[in-house]
Amino acid sequence: MAFEGLTERLQNAMTKMRRKGKVSEADVKEMMREVRLALLEADVNFKVVKDFVKTVSARAVGSEVLESLSPGQQIIKIVSEELTDLMGGEQETIQTAAKAPTVVMMVGLQGAGKTTTAGKLASYLRKNQNKRPLLIAADIYRPAAIQQLETIGKQLDVPVFSMGDQVSPVEIARQGIEKAKAEHLDFVLIDTAGRLQIDETLMQELSDIKEITQPTEIFLVVDAMTGQEAANVASSFNEQLDISGVILTKLDGDTRGGAALSIRAVTGKPIKFTGSGEKLDALEPFYPDRMANRILGMGDMLTLIEKAQQDFDEKKSEEMITKLRENSFDFNDFIEQMDQVSNMGPIEDILKMIPGMNNVPGLDKLQIDPKDTARMKAIVLSMTPQERENPDILSQSRRRRIARGSARPIAEVNRMIKQFNESKKMMSQMSKGNMNGMDNLFGQ
Ligand code: GDP
Repeated sequence: MAFEGLTERLQNAMTKMRRKGKVSEADVKEMMREVRLALLEADVNFKVVKDFVKTVSARAVGSEVLESLSPGQQIIKIVSEELTDLMGGEQETIQTAAKAPTVVMMVGLQGAGKTTTAGKLASYLRKNQNKRPLLIAADIYRPAAIQQLETIGKQLDVPVFSMGDQVSPVEIARQGIEKAKAEHLDFVLIDTAGRLQIDETLMQELSDIKEITQPTEIFLVVDAMTGQEAANVASSFNEQLDISGVILTKLDGDTRGGAALSIRAVTGKPIKFTGSGEKLDALEPFYPDRMANRILGMGDMLTLIEKAQQDFDEKKSEEMITKLRENSFDFNDFIEQMDQVSNMGPIEDILKMIPGMNNVPGLDKLQIDPKDTARMKAIVLSMTPQERENPDILSQSRRRRIARGSARPIAEVNRMIKQFNESKKMMSQMSKGNMNGMDNLFGQ
């Protein structure tokens, strides 16, 4: 769970403060000591912590705060405001060029999530802004990168421009933009090469692409799990390329907060989006105030409401019911259903967005292991399209091949297919109004 330790420690410090009717300078000092430790432990950059503590302390010991009727509440408000400020204050959105297509360069270290995020951004632009994007495959070094982007493009039904790995990335980018112009597309998203570490050749190549393509946005994709190291990486990329914004990925993991809280202060560049899952719709605009409230455990109702609206797809649900009734529910539908449910993210994360839920005992036990769904998905994805549509043909030899392809034991493959068949039977009976289908659920 993201920010868990940080939230807990900050809440402890705040709760003590909230209870006090009268607050002294010494109380503020004591609280700020705890806040400082909490931030350092969350891997926030040392200098950022120092400045933050100084600013909050200076505001908190002002006479208008200490002598007010609710000094504890006021101080909590100050902490929240300053956290918001630390992350940039206002939300910053994606810029568009005066003349289409708007060029966006995606840069970052290998594994940060650059290629996936390029896909997510394309999907976001189309879904939320009604734009027509083109993905450009300009990472010619990582063996599977081009294919990965093409697969993502297919999944999203977004065009991908590639020229293989024998043409220079600058040329690929140039020709991609020409194509977007000719086809009157609104955005091009250039997936550039990453390295394990920052190196000069890479930076030179990125500078060359920048010079030729004149991007409106250069988004650096960084992995939130790397803590304040993410801020260092951002600093280096910014020095070399003058990036325009950061996309912070893997906020669904148990990141401690160091990246989210350090990046803006260290680089001066805003976080514009966050990624919170492997799926292609797991991208959200970054709102500093909402993030501050989430870190403080004060709930994030706005995001929760937006998520619920986005994810509830009534038409799809009806389609599923019809399929069940006609007994034509197959593995493709199965995956789609799984995605719909897990679209909203881990259930415990959703509940924690509700103010006050953070402290509910037993919430941590309410977990659906995302690894289980990921494993099932891996198995289904190793099936051929024909097998997915027609599970009856899954012979032993096919099952062995699927087990090898998904790197799961054959017993697990068998179990999953059995479960699928049983639930299909049960659901089909239930959808026809026959509740006896429930018996199958319990293996009777
Ligand atoms: P690249 O080398 O920077 O292009 O990285 P990829 O796009 O290939 O991503 C590396 C891995 O991180 C892949 O397994 C992605 O599915 C995963 N990934 C990317 N973004 C996220 C995210 O927001 N959350 C999670 N959990 N995984 C992510």
